[in-house]
Amino acid sequence: MERAAGALIKNAFWEPGAERLSPKRIREIQSERLRGLVRRVYEGSAFYRRLLRDRGIGPGSIRSTDDLERLPFTTKDDLRDNYPFGILSVPLSKVVRIHTSSGTTGNPTVVAYTRRDLEIWSNCIARCLTMTGVTPEDIFQVILGYGLFTGGLGFHYGAELIGAKVVPSSTGGTKRQVKLMRDFGVTAFTSIPSYALYLGETAIEMGIDPRKDLRIRTMSCGAEPWSEGTREKLEELFGCMVFNSYGLSEVGGPGVAFECIEQDGLHVWSDHFLVEVVDPRTGEGLPPGEEGELVITTLTREAMPLIRYRTRDIAMILEGDACGCGRAHTRISWIKGRTDDMIKVRGVNVFPSQIEHALMRMPEVGNNYQIVVERRGHLDELKVRIEVTGGAFKGELKDLVDLRGRISSELENLLGLRLTVELVEPGSLPRVEGKASRVLDRRSR
Ligand SMILES: [Zn+2]
Repeated sequence: MERAAGALIKNAFWEPGAERLSPKRIREIQSERLRGLVRRVYEGSAFYRRLLRDRGIGPGSIRSTDDLERLPFTTKDDLRDNYPFGILSVPLSKVVRIHTSSGTTGNPTVVAYTRRDLEIWSNCIARCLTMTGVTPEDIFQVILGYGLFTGGLGFHYGAELIGAKVVPSSTGGTKRQVKLMRDFGVTAFTSIPSYALYLGETAIEMGIDPRKDLRIRTMSCGAEPWSEGTREKLEELFGCMVFNSYGLSEVGGPGVAFECIEQDGLHVWSDHFLVEVVDPRTGEGLPPGEEGELVITTLTREAMPLIRYRTRDIAMILEGDACGCGRAHTRISWIKGRTDDMIKVRGVNVFPSQIEHALMRMPEVGNNYQIVVERRGHLDELKVRIEVTGGAFKGELKDLVDLRGRISSELENLLGLRLTVELVEPGSLPRVEGKASRVLDRRSR
């Protein structure tokens, strides 16, 4: 794996005081802020006052993080039911920004910010970017949607706070994105991972070698589940280190958790966010090292703090406080998938990211694939359609059959399921410039 470019990146701190807190001090701060949070929502939010009263919890009932499990969960449905401003903990007059999360059906989820919320958000992003090598010297391209989506503006203000030269190119117009990258000498960018791959491919089609003709030294990707395999592919493609970014609009947007240069899990900024992992079916808390649904409590948000928000993202808390980077902030694993992305095929739970992880390690496999689930008679059938690299269809048919055999047995071992693999020519699967749509479930429609 290409690591040479990584040596250029130093472990740096944006807010050294907060980032280098000891584990003990982090727990004290969390308890103190949790007490304050319960008081604030009780006084400020009619929604939470009712929810807490129903459980016999008063503004002074919660003393430390040990009492966390007494508090109720907040769900996406709660946010939808209280659309647009019913969950706010401050008067609307204190709000200075309103975003929404994409809602495919019904009401979107509203996210409101006070001026201080925006300051903290920008500082969290500045911590993430500084941690992954972005400095005032960098030319930083924000290849994420601007507007209601929190990604674009979130990274924009964080990078600007550091003093980097921000290029707000947003999404779409792929050739123009590559042109700007080359002409401006862009040194860092953020994007969703499937689009970053597409950018790299497009550059090559334009006769631009991303490793030689571009100057990218650090990159971050997030906003959709992806895998270490894709990371390796991106690092190889651009010749730089690539870092995983995690956040969700309901708790404020990106900047909740981010990888450090150790690339060994994502640090959750624990002075602002308290993270738990629970069993998605029962809501029971799970210990570090066990996979379940991430639940996030926002400790410092003013306009729309959330208590124990059910993210629907599947991950685990990693064991141990110490990280080589010097931060004791809780580390979480990569997101394995969403509780609602999980597909059940003949009784087996399948996450698209598992399949992606295996595919991206095979050099013959291209950057695009699609998972198709169909019902044949009484049985569910799983088919994976995979684009292979340009040469594969030009060679011997026998080699192609061999390749299909190898991929099938690899995937069948991984998932414990029989499946069909279909190899297709590069560029033949549908492409999306927004979030990749990898799963086609034809069973119910
Ligand atoms: Zn670290």
